[in-house]
Amino acid sequence: MINQERLKNLLLELVQIDSHSRKEREIAERIRHYCEELGAEVEIDDAGQKVGGNSGNVIARFAGTIPGAEPLMMSAHMDTVVPGEGVKPIVNGDIIRTDGTTVLGGDDKSGCAVIIETIRCLLEQKIPHTPIEAIFSICEEVGLLGAKNVDVSKLKSKFGIVFDSDDPGFLFTKGPSADHLEIEIFGLESHAGVAPEEGISAIKIAAEAIAGMKLGRIDDETTANIGVIEGGKATNIVTNHVILKGEARSLDDAKLEAQSQHMVQRFEEAASKYEVTVEGKTTKGRIKAIVSREYSAMDVSDESHVVQLVITAAARLGKEVKTLASGGGCDANIFNKRGIECANLGTGMRAIHTVNEWLDVKDMYASAEMTLEILKLNGELAEKTVASIA
Ligand SMILES: [Zn+2]
Repeated sequence: MINQERLKNLLLELVQIDSHSRKEREIAERIRHYCEELGAEVEIDDAGQKVGGNSGNVIARFAGTIPGAEPLMMSAHMDTVVPGEGVKPIVNGDIIRTDGTTVLGGDDKSGCAVIIETIRCLLEQKIPHTPIEAIFSICEEVGLLGAKNVDVSKLKSKFGIVFDSDDPGFLFTKGPSADHLEIEIFGLESHAGVAPEEGISAIKIAAEAIAGMKLGRIDDETTANIGVIEGGKATNIVTNHVILKGEARSLDDAKLEAQSQHMVQRFEEAASKYEVTVEGKTTKGRIKAIVSREYSAMDVSDESHVVQLVITAAARLGKEVKTLASGGGCDANIFNKRGIECANLGTGMRAIHTVNEWLDVKDMYASAEMTLEILKLNGELAEKTVASIA
């Protein structure tokens, strides 16, 4: 049902188009071209201007064949993490890898390829279908910025599928809320050899704070990490300024708040222990903390229309799809929050965000076969609904 060779070639073509976050113009134009070729009305929105990128989200509207049927959203992101430029895919049987110097970008070009190829097959095989709103987003990897800036008032879909995870046997329906933490620590500069007692080391404060901090896997629903620490100019200077960036995630918002608060509190406590007086002037260690909610949790019920659609379609192909909670966030978190009920289906990407990223094209084929069946089933259900209303 799916043209495997064409799907594989499309993936290979897309991964060789550089598309770091905020630099998606070229791949956006290519995807626009393919969607227009398939008869879609395509728009590139203004999200790029809002986030300082060179392209907006590609929104392709495919007409349905069932009068009055509700549309369905399909979405994948076009951007990749670094190092993702000059990708040279190496095909070894069914496995596609890189030359080890870049990511593959199967995250999420496998999702883009699955959407395009599935719609192509749907149209070629003249399968009755509902309208489809395909959203190829920008800047997913830098805070889901494309999805956050889609004008949802222009979308008609009430449900959909995001194609942005690994195993096509799983449908991610739950995902955490995430906080981004940015901490600045202010100490006092002094000569490390001549007058160390006249300084307050921001590095020492950071170290003490982190040493007493709960990080890593906090419980089965919560994780936390300090991922960036920057500061200091020379070994002979007591460092007066350090910047740290971290995150916390949880499926439970109360636990997330507690964890973020704990992290900030540790910095505050560590800083408050330090105070020096130089020439009558007293300086205390202090911090500035900014905690921002990067995205909110998603929690789609197993009974929801979209989950039942996927499970039933898979069953018709003799396959089983299990719903699962993810530790990561994706555009689906944003779309759910913004009123489009959606789950995240796997497309075969593996070892993502590393130069060892690879993909088994058999997984991608399976994902596409399932997606075609989902669109077919969705059309059948829409025909029944429209008939019953008429
Ligand atoms: Zn992704």
